[in-house]
Amino acid sequence: MAPKNKGGRVMEAFVAEHFTKHGPKNPKTKRWFMKCNYCRPEDQPIEHRDLRCLTHSVKVETCPNIPNDARKEGQRILMQKGGIEFTSISSDDESGSPGPATKRAKGSSGKAVVPKGAMESFIDRAMTVEEVDRANVCLLRFFVHGNVPLSASENPYFLKWTHSLRPSYSPATRYVLTERYLPAEEQRAISEDMERLVGRTNLTYLMDGWDDAMRRSVYGCMVAEVGEYPVVLGLHELTGMRGTADTLVEVSNQALARKDIHISAIIAVCTDNPTTMQSFRRKWTLEHPKILVCGLANVLSLILTLP
Ligand SMILES: [Zn+2]
Repeated sequence: MAPKNKGGRVMEAFVAEHFTKHGPKNPKTKRWFMKCNYCRPEDQPIEHRDLRCLTHSVKVETCPNIPNDARKEGQRILMQKGGIEFTSISSDDESGSPGPATKRAKGSSGKAVVPKGAMESFIDRAMTVEEVDRANVCLLRFFVHGNVPLSASENPYFLKWTHSLRPSYSPATRYVLTERYLPAEEQRAISEDMERLVGRTNLTYLMDGWDDAMRRSVYGCMVAEVGEYPVVLGLHELTGMRGTADTLVEVSNQALARKDIHISAIIAVCTDNPTTMQSFRRKWTLEHPKILVCGLANVLSLILTLP
């Protein structure tokens, strides 16, 4: 009758030390019910399966009275179970944790010392300029479409992650992303849209305005055609400008010019129905009599659903 199961698994020893068996086994799962030695006797027993006893012990909320040492031991075992060992206040896992066969290369005076690693660290060759660019553009697209701030590319945890995938790749900084890759990518998107629009002559122009989270007045416009994917022409910020029909006409002409659409390719205009929009439609169709008019309750929701 040795209560401590010496030589058994570490977790078993921990549970045996800090818990007491309670009642018969659960007939379904064949597991014991355990009572925590530090909690009140009237508390619900914990079924001894998975990591339930451990997770009970490591949290102050569930087990407030366990001695600190025991709690730390529980935390250590729990980390070990997750494959994380010996986290002595971090910085230990810097530089992509060299393998067991790590040696320091002999650095001749003044030269940087490169840690020698296992075979894996030699497989990674330096990336070419093109490869770095491609990777950075992919990164940017992820940031843009995931609504992630560009500064995330300088986040130390993110860097550790990319480093663990490919040690020779350092992601572009926020500055480089904004100054170099973002304009390039914007241009690519615009020229792709322009290519998509070549030769199309039955376009419907849609426009709507709204206030964004920073209370800026924003107008978005796009063109659509039956059976074709719609093309967003862009967003225009009109904060501080008078949202008159004349302004909207100007904005629309600019938006079309930006993607090189001739006004003759537009056969209809579609907006929601406040008075400025009504008067904008009237004006625009007077200037270009070929254009049909229609009102629509919520163009905005349609525009916002597009990528
Ligand atoms: Zn407890």
